[in-house]
Amino acid sequence: MPRPLIGITARHVKTEGGFSAVRILRAYVSAIVDAGGAPILIPPDLPEDGWRVLLDRLDGVLFSGGADIGLEHFDGQPHPTVDVEPVRDALELPLLRAAVDADVPTLGICRGFQVMNVALGGTLYTHILDQLPNALQHDWHDKPRETLAHSIRVEEGTRLAEILDAPLLQVNSLHHQGIKGLAPNLKATAYAPDGLIEGIELPDRKFALAVQWHPEWMTSHEEMRRLFKRFVEAAGRNA
Ligand code: MN
Repeated sequence: MPRPLIGITARHVKTEGGFSAVRILRAYVSAIVDAGGAPILIPPDLPEDGWRVLLDRLDGVLFSGGADIGLEHFDGQPHPTVDVEPVRDALELPLLRAAVDADVPTLGICRGFQVMNVALGGTLYTHILDQLPNALQHDWHDKPRETLAHSIRVEEGTRLAEILDAPLLQVNSLHHQGIKGLAPNLKATAYAPDGLIEGIELPDRKFALAVQWHPEWMTSHEEMRRLFKRFVEAAGRNA
């Protein structure tokens, strides 16, 4: 089987030389390549007639991590730590809805997990520590990205449970926002010990699944390699 084409959403950064660049961290790219996919970059400022052409040809879409989503998209509570990249919202929210409508296999990671929830009508805590009583520390940006931060309990009977094949797992945690109100059609598939939702999926789609943690930094764990593998396989069946 030829490698499925997997689009990965990218962000804008400034290089050390001061040049504007479009970037995807290598961990995402390597995880897709190692799982048997052929990655394609989706630039954040691609107009709709561009991303629609891409979506027609892609076998799967990976919504990557990054900045916070603009509060206007979910009537979010302002907080001084909120840091947005509006050009990504403008592309990713409609792209996610279009991918789900067309039943193109979709994997969301961190920001991508939040994009899935907001695009489908859910809301977010804009700073977990101040808004979720008794919250654990979920923002471990000052530690190596593979650091295991907290456990998750995986809901039985979900696609995620079938893939991970472990009811309880330790995961990394590199986020300060999280799901407050779950979008109507989404099912919660994993929870942190403080009750925060860490996994979601659309049960009626071929593969529309997202996680709040960063499996691309945990590929030394067989379960996380399997997550990418199953995503790329679903994309392959869609090719
Ligand atoms: Mn977490």
